Amino acid sequence: MKLRTARIVVWSMMAAAVLSGLIALVSQSPVAYVLMGLALAAELIVFFTFIRCPHCSRHLDRAGMNSEIEYCPFCGESLKDRDE
Ligand SMILES: [Zn+2]
Repeated sequence: MKLRTARIVVWSMMAAAVLSGLIALVSQSPVAYVLMGLALAAELIVFFTFIRCPHCSRHLDRAGMNSEIEYCPFCGESLKDRDE
């Protein structure tokens, strides 16, 4: 998975978790709580697995979620996708 794709997935999962969390609070539906948990789990898995430098493979942490970041803070290589 590309860094840019991974960012989109993480943001989407975060939004899905917040949304299902709100639905869970309002409706008290166990299904909504389960969906919130699944979205949070998926978000964390994608965050820790795919938010990485494509060159040195180090986890970029929250800095990697910022699409303005151009260079890896560890190895200094460009983080821009080649086809961008
Ligand atoms: Zn790197």
